[in-house]
Amino acid sequence: MPASEIDRLIQLLARLPGLGPRSARRAALQLMKRREALMLPLADSLRRAAEQLRDCSLCGNLDTSDPCALCADPARDESLICVVEEIADLWAIERSGAFKGRYHVLGGTLSALDGRGPEELRAGALAARARGAEVREVILALSATVDGQTTAHYIAERLADCEVAVSRLAHGVPVGGELDYLDDGTLSAALKARRPA
Ligand SMILES: [Zn+2]
Repeated sequence: MPASEIDRLIQLLARLPGLGPRSARRAALQLMKRREALMLPLADSLRRAAEQLRDCSLCGNLDTSDPCALCADPARDESLICVVEEIADLWAIERSGAFKGRYHVLGGTLSALDGRGPEELRAGALAARARGAEVREVILALSATVDGQTTAHYIAERLADCEVAVSRLAHGVPVGGELDYLDDGTLSAALKARRPA
């Protein structure tokens, strides 16, 4: 491999969350040393995933099928929709095993600072889903930040004319990319202790 390819590998790795240039160099070196056992399988896996990934047209999740496996699973409760900011939050709730309904991924929050308005969230699609006869409750699992709460208010208003209960997680639970750091018990408790939004 010419040196420039190695530099390129390091630069690409350094763009991953949690990896600065130093960690990226270590990761690159590890990959180069373990070409057969690690580098080639990883390259294969990345290519296959990149080719097969689809946005779920229902919930906004990423999966290798559309609708995603969660939306397509007939065993899940379609009367409950849990609204999250990011796919990382969906994964965290799934890992906790505390929720067996459906999801809706907004793709972020409203943000005056970042200039993100309602049209950039998947809120219209959520309102359309909430009008479905089978939906009884929409749970807002949004972050406790100002942006998260502004978004929760906005969503609750968008859903006001739908015949669904709108609830949110118990207050003080950090969500929005931070669900990852919660243990499963805390997440389950926050879901159980949800209250009207
Ligand atoms: Zn889906």
